[in-house]
Amino acid sequence: MKAIYAAEQKRHDPKMFLSSGAQKPNPEQPERVERLLAGARAAGCTVERPRNHGLGPAASVHTPEYLDFLERIYERWQRIEGASAEVIPNIHPIARGGMRPASAVGQAGYHMADTSCPISAETWESALWSSWTAVEAAQSVMAGAPAAYALCRPPGHHAFADVAGGFCFINNSAVAAQTLRKQAPRVAILDVDLHHGNGTQGIFYARPDVLTVSLHADPIRFYPFFWGHADERGDGPGLGYNFNLPLARKSGDDAFLEALASAVQRIRAFAPEALVVALGLDAFEGDPFGGLSVSTPGFARIGEAIAGLGLPTVIVQEGGYLCDELGDNLTSFLTGFGAKHQAA
Ligand code: ZN
Repeated sequence: MKAIYAAEQKRHDPKMFLSSGAQKPNPEQPERVERLLAGARAAGCTVERPRNHGLGPAASVHTPEYLDFLERIYERWQRIEGASAEVIPNIHPIARGGMRPASAVGQAGYHMADTSCPISAETWESALWSSWTAVEAAQSVMAGAPAAYALCRPPGHHAFADVAGGFCFINNSAVAAQTLRKQAPRVAILDVDLHHGNGTQGIFYARPDVLTVSLHADPIRFYPFFWGHADERGDGPGLGYNFNLPLARKSGDDAFLEALASAVQRIRAFAPEALVVALGLDAFEGDPFGGLSVSTPGFARIGEAIAGLGLPTVIVQEGGYLCDELGDNLTSFLTGFGAKHQAA
C-alpha cells in the first residue's frame, strides 16, 4: 500500500497543553511522525510525497473566515503587546451563531474550541500539507488503488467547519471524504480513534451522502464531552446518517470488536462506494491518554474487520501518542487490513 506524507507536516511543534487545568507538554509531538513512518514502512508501505493541492480541498469543508483566521492569526497575535508565543484562546462564546468579533483575541475564542490546539508560525503550513496528504491518498484510491494510507499530522477529526480543537485544524478525514465524493455518490467515514470525531460529525451532520460512524470512549466522562453520545443521529436530511458507539472506559479488544461489528453492519446497510477510516491509535492500552485498552494484536483484528467491507479505502491518520508501541500499532493495523482487503 502507498503511504503519503510531506516533511512540512513535522514543522508544527505545539508547546502548550492544559490538562485538568495544569500546564503540561503538548502530546501532539512531531516525533509521532517518525514512529508512524517506521510503522508504515514495516507494514510494507512505500512513502510518497503529496502535491500542492491549493486551498480548494480545505475550502470544501471549512468556511472562508475560518481558513483566513488559521492563515493569518499567528502574525496578528504577535502584534498584541505581551501576548503568548502561541495563539491560545481565553474566552469563548457560550453558543455558536453570535457575533464574530474583529479582535484577534475574540476570533481565537470564536474559532478554537479549547486550549489544546495552539497556533504557532508553522501551524498553517503543516495543516495545509496534512490536508494535501489526505487529498493525494483519496486521489490515489479514485485512480484505482484498493487502499492508501495518509500519514496526516497535525490530525483533523476534532476540527469543525469553522472551529479548531483537540490538536486539529483542518479536518483531513472530511477532506478525504469530500474528495472521494467527486466520484462516489456515497462515502462512509469510520472513526476508530479513542476520542469521538466531533468535528467530522459536525461537518456532515445534516448530509445524507456521507455516513459518519465513530467508536470512542464514552464522552459522558471523556473528551470531547459535549459530542459523541448515542442519541446524536444527524439533523434534517442527515437524520439517521450519524452513528455513535460510545464504549465504557478501559474497554479491551473484544468489546471494541463487538462495537466495530455493529459499525460495519451499519456501513454495509448504507452501501457506500468508498470508505475513509479515521485511524486513531490512541485506543491502545499503553497510550498516554489511557481511555481504552486495545492491544497491539487487537489493531490487526480491527484492520481485518474493516477490510472485510471490501471497499476502496483511504486510511487517514488521526491520534495516537508517544509510547514505545505507536509504530507497531500502525504496522499491526495495516498488516491486518492488507491481509484481508480485496476492494471491488
Ligand atoms: Zn484521539
